[in-house]
This record gives sequence, structure tokens and C-alpha cells, in this order.
Amino acid sequence: MTAAASAPLSDDDSGLFPEDLEGLLRSDQRVDRVHKVYITRSLKLSSIRGIGFDMDHTLAIYKKQPIEELAFSATARKLAARPGYPPSMANLKYDREGCVRGLIVDKELGNILKLDKYNYVALAYHGTRRLLASELKKQYAEDIIKFDPNKHYSVDTLFSVPEVFLYAKLVDFIDSHVVRAKTYGQAFIDVRACIDEAHRDGSIKEKVCANPERYVNEDLNLPLTLHKFRVAGKKLFLLTNSDVTYVDVVLGFLLNGKLPGYTNWRDYFDVSITLAGKPGFYKRAEPSTPLNGSGETPKVFVGGNAHDLEERMGVSGDRILYFGDHTYDDILKTKRQFNWRTAMIVPGLAAEIKISQSERKLRTELYKLFQERDTNYVKITRLYSLVAKLRADKIHNYSRKSPTDLARLDRHTRSLTARIAALERNLSNVLGKINVKDRGLFRRYNKFWGSEFSAGNEISRFAGQIADFACIYTGKVSNLLAYSPNKYFQKKRIVMPHETE
Ligand SMILES: [Mg+2]
Repeated sequence: MTAAASAPLSDDDSGLFPEDLEGLLRSDQRVDRVHKVYITRSLKLSSIRGIGFDMDHTLAIYKKQPIEELAFSATARKLAARPGYPPSMANLKYDREGCVRGLIVDKELGNILKLDKYNYVALAYHGTRRLLASELKKQYAEDIIKFDPNKHYSVDTLFSVPEVFLYAKLVDFIDSHVVRAKTYGQAFIDVRACIDEAHRDGSIKEKVCANPERYVNEDLNLPLTLHKFRVAGKKLFLLTNSDVTYVDVVLGFLLNGKLPGYTNWRDYFDVSITLAGKPGFYKRAEPSTPLNGSGETPKVFVGGNAHDLEERMGVSGDRILYFGDHTYDDILKTKRQFNWRTAMIVPGLAAEIKISQSERKLRTELYKLFQERDTNYVKITRLYSLVAKLRADKIHNYSRKSPTDLARLDRHTRSLTARIAALERNLSNVLGKINVKDRGLFRRYNKFWGSEFSAGNEISRFAGQIADFACIYTGKVSNLLAYSPNKYFQKKRIVMPHETE
């Protein structure tokens, strides 16, 4: 603990936070759905001794449109300069709905797939053209997708979103012969190479560094949240793939001088690992290299490995809670290999919840239509069995019935059949309305992909990964500010459908 963290807070510095800080630090507050922390596995913060944070899209929440547009344009310009690609590609327009997290790219076929949690394809596009159900069936039959890195690419981080949309545009160009002599697979390799180059040569970073407020959301609750963890006795660490120059800009913008006693972002963290090279960080053996000058206890390092980090922190395994946004590098690997507890940051969560709240009326209407559909099914089934009974009565008792009785039986059967036909017309009308409203709701989330968390009637692969590998998830780190630093996030008991119906 630094002196700043253990000493009582003073009000004499910047005065940025006029609220009652001590009160804020004490206990849970009422939290609305948008800012809530959601629990997939019970987690006692009182057992956690070390809390780690990824930086990009975790501590630093980027502004979606500007950062994605920047990456998209930088990559498109690089691609336009390559042989085989038309120079006009440099002017392509970005569509922020073109791709979402959790999708899978089928590099061989030029398709982008949305899978459900069982890895069945729920929805697919060839380039930007939605595949018909018949095409889907032909190309993917009933098989689940077995992820193969030679054939597939997974959109595990928000950084991958713009490049996948660019790839979809390229597939369109290949199909319309604007781009010639390129396979879908080669086009994907080229897009990846160009975005990597744009990240490496500063095309993206220099713009962010020159103007961080244009690309990164300021969050005045973030420094308070980190401080709150520190006064509760937690050791904090930073574990980022970004280099220290970039961290200086981004975390400097978010943290430097925001709270009394914390002049620099480094003051919040006991250990900071830059250029970590995740996921290699979890398996390599080389120790980290200190960045600080000699004469002081090093706190900022380059590279290294997870064992080395645990040793420096003096905390390991399930005493560590790690916040990250990358499904594979931050959440799956840390949980599986090191038994760290995990907190997934899902920057799009707030928007999803707001849409679901604003569309409550539409969802109520849909619910009523589902009820009407089910009532119709019940009525139709009952009438069909009545008709079957009447027909059986006629066949088995034909000789015993008078012509008048037989005529009455036929009239009754005809009347029931007419009622069935009317109900079936009504049912078809209701199904049509459900379809229209369902599509409307789907498009409200994203015109191409719907909600990130659902795939047909199932949860999406992305939602399934959160449920399987994250202990808690929320929209941003500072949402934790409203909770006690020793909160017991207790998971609700899972019930089977027969227990609730
Ligand atoms: Mg990240």
C-alpha cells in the first residue's frame, strides 16, 4: 500500500470529487441494470488479495465509432496500396453494425457466422449478403462448427471488429470481380497483415496519442474504484499488451492527477506489466524486465510470465481477480491455466440493456402474441382430436346410426373443420405478426446481427463463453464502485424449466 492509499482522503487537492468519498467507499449502493455487476459464478471479494486489469477496452473504454473508424480507414488505406486491390478501397465507409464480438469468420468460404452456445450456425453472411436458410443448410448442414484456426477466425476482442467488416466488403468485391485473383483466404490474410501493420507502425496509436479524449471515454469513477480496492487492502496490477509509451498516454488521460495522492497512473498499481504478449504470457518462461531506472523498487516491467507476476505480487491462483475484455487471452486462459477468478468487461452491455429497456412495450406485445399463438395451438389440437373422435364414431357405429344421426355427425364434423381452418388462418396471421415484431426487435440491437447475447432461441456463443469462463461481467470497471470491496457476489440458484413453469 502506498502512503496515499492508506492515509485518510483529504479534500484539499484538486477537489474533483466533491462527494462524500468515505461514504462512497463504505458499502453497496442501489445499482440500476445498466451499471450492475452480473454474476455467473459466486465470488467473494473478501477472499481476493490481488486484482489485475487489462488496459485496452477494460480500464480504457474506447469510443466505438471513432476508434473503429480509425482502425478501419487505416487498414483500408494500406490494403488499397497493395497490388491486386483497387485504390478506391481507401474511401470505403465504415458501418459500426457490420460486425460484433463473438462471430466466427469462415476464411475458406468468405462467410461470417453467428453461432449459438452449442456452436450451431444461427445466422450467416457471405460478405455482406445474408445467407438464405437453404444456403446455410447446404454449407453447414446440421453440423456444429469445430473451431479450426486454419479455417476460422474468432472475433474475441473489439479490436477485431473493424477488420472483419472490411473483410466482408472484400468478399463482396471478390464476388463482383472488383478484386481479382484473390481467394477469400488470401484476402483475409491481407486484411490481417494490414491491420497488424496499422497497429505496429503507429497509424492508429499516433492518432489516439495526439487526441486521447477523442477516442477514449473519460471516467471519473475509475480512479475512485481503483482507490477503493486499495484502501480495502487489495494489491493491484496492470497486465497489458500495450507498450509503456501508449499506456502513459491512455492511463495518463484516465488517471493522472485525478485523485489526491495519485499523481501518476503508476501510483495505483503495485506491479505493471507492459508488452505482456498475452496469451504467450501465460506459458513462456522468461522473466519480466524492469523499466524503472536503477535505485528504486521496480514497479513497471516489460514482458515476463504469469508465474513471475504472481511471485512479484505475492498472490496467486484464486486469490487473484482479473478484469479483461478478451474472451480468450484475458478470461479463458487465466481461468483454465492459473485458476484466477475472472471479471469480463463487456463495453456493449449498457447499450444492449438500454435497448431491451426501451423496447419493453414491443417485448410485451411479442409476449402476448406468443400467448395467442400457444392458445391457438391448444385449441386446434383439441378440435382435431374431436374431429378424429367423430370420424371414429361414424366408422365404428355406421350400421347402428340412423341417416338423421349420420347427417348430424357430418354437420358437426364440417363445423369443427371450419373452426380449425379459421383458427389456422388466425395462427398464420399471429405468426406473421411475431415475425415482423421479432425482426423489428432484432434490428433494434443491430441490423445485421441482432443482440450480441442471443442466437435464435439460444444464447450466442459469445454469451456462452461469458457464462462458462467469467465469474462476473459488467459494462466497465468503475461499475464496481457502487459495491463493497468485500462484496459477496452470490450466484442465484439455477433452476430447471419444470421448477418455474
Ligand atoms: Mg483488452
